[in-house]
This record gives sequence, C-alpha cells and structure tokens, in this order.
Amino acid sequence: MAGLTHPNLVVLTGAGLSAESGVPTFRGVDGLWEGYHIEEVASPEAFRHTPELVHRFYNLRRAALHTVQPNSAHHALVRLEQAWPGSFLHVTQNVDDLNERAGAKKLRHMHGELRKVRCLWCRNVMDWESDLEVTTACPICEKVGKMRPDIVWFGEMPYYIEEITQALETVDVFVCIGTSGVVYPAAGFARQAASKGAKRLIEINLESTDISSHFTERRQGTASVEVPRLVEELLTTT
Ligand code: NAD
Repeated sequence: MAGLTHPNLVVLTGAGLSAESGVPTFRGVDGLWEGYHIEEVASPEAFRHTPELVHRFYNLRRAALHTVQPNSAHHALVRLEQAWPGSFLHVTQNVDDLNERAGAKKLRHMHGELRKVRCLWCRNVMDWESDLEVTTACPICEKVGKMRPDIVWFGEMPYYIEEITQALETVDVFVCIGTSGVVYPAAGFARQAASKGAKRLIEINLESTDISSHFTERRQGTASVEVPRLVEELLTTT
C-alpha cells in the first residue's frame, strides 16, 4: 500500500469462510441453522429450559468437525498472517477450528469454540472432544450438570472486545469475509474501522450484505477463490 510502510490489518471472518469446507452457514433461505430455530439452541434461556436439546445440537456440530477440512481460503489467510509486514489480527465469528487446523496463530474466536466447554460452577474453560450431557461432571470441580459449550450465545458478551476495539483504532486495511453483517457487535466493525481512518475496507461475499455500503471495495464470489486472490494482491502490493 503506497505511503504506508507497515500497514495494520484486521480480518473479520464469518460462516461463509467455512461454507465450502462443508460447515453450513447460519442464515440459509429458510432462516434455520441445520434445521433448528436459532433461539431454540443459541441462548442462555434455551439452555435453562431445554439443556438436552442444546447439548445435542452442539454435540452434533462438534462431531461434524471430524468430517471437514480447511479450504484454500483458510490456508491463504495463514499465509497472509505469516507474511504481513505490519500488525495482523484475525477475528472470527466462527466456532469451528478450521483456521487453527490451517495453522492460524493470531486468531481470536469472538463467539467461542466448539472444542471448548465451560463449567458454570468453577468457571474453568477446558478443551473438549466428546459429547456433553446434562449428567456430565466437571473434571476440575466435579460438580454435575453445570457444564456448557463455550459458545457466546445471543444476549451474551462476545470475547476479546477490548483487544478488537484497540486493533480497530489503528487499522489501515480491514477485510471482511463471508459474514452476513447482521450479528452485532461484529456487524459494526467495518463502520468502526472506517471512522478510525482505515484506508481500505474490503468485503468478500457471495452477495451484497447489510453492511456492504461501509466498504471501499467489494469482491463478489466464493471465499475459496476470492481470498487467495486478495492475499496475493495484498502481499505483492504492500
Ligand atoms: P451467516 O450464516 O449469517 O452469513 C454467512 C455469509 O456468508 C452470508 O452473507 C453468505 O452470503 C456468505 N457466504 C456463504 N457462502 C460463502 C462463500 N462460499 N464465500 C463467501 N461468502 C459466502 O454467518 P455469520 O455472519 O458468520 O453469522 C453467523 C453466526 O453463527 C456467527 O456468529 C457464528 O458464531 C455462528 N456460526 C458459525 C459457523 C462456523 O463456525 N463455521 C457456522 C454457522 C454459524
């Protein structure tokens, strides 16, 4: 980027990044997530009223991770992370682990992770591979019935907001990939970056979104094609 020796880069990713790996996105035409109404499975109220259903939903999502692999977009973002000369932060709304399986290190899961669980009693967060049930005891405090997926549900505070806000204060290039721009606060990051003086705001998506008007560049297409192309451009012109 002409005139900037070490531009700061923030990448925001959403479900569209993993769609071509076979992880379904959230907002299909029917408004369902894998056949479930989102309020049935992704809120603290749902967990209080029907914990068995919520556990079943996330157990299925966690098990499904064994059947998918990172795609060319995940790999290209890791190449960008490793070669970018300025500061780099990848903020993902995704709860899958495809970015880390591609080698991502400077990655923040603002909505939590399928492969982590949390004990509501002792508050410890731990890695988790198997199913979670209402009868599961916490391996640390041994309390039964207090374990939940470490997923940020609707109405809960996303993780890393302070660090993300700080990165957006000085961002030069903001890239947003495969997000519908309807879930806040992530949907507000492009506007925040623009207000802080980001020079380039680039959106990659199959279609126009609710936040498209905040971007200086829009690339319509699949993440698996558009992300590697953008990464090559950024690395050769910066
Ligand atoms: P979303 O499902 O609301 O929107 C997905 C967006 O990606 C859409 O705008 C769609 O046009 C675009 N898209 C779909 N396929 C694409 C492709 N191949 N290339 C480029 N763009 C493509 O997703 P969101 O905005 O991330 O919000 C959904 C919430 O649900 C997130 O907060 C997340 O926590 C959760 N979620 C996570 C996963 C995951 O971990 N992979 C999957 C589904 C939902």
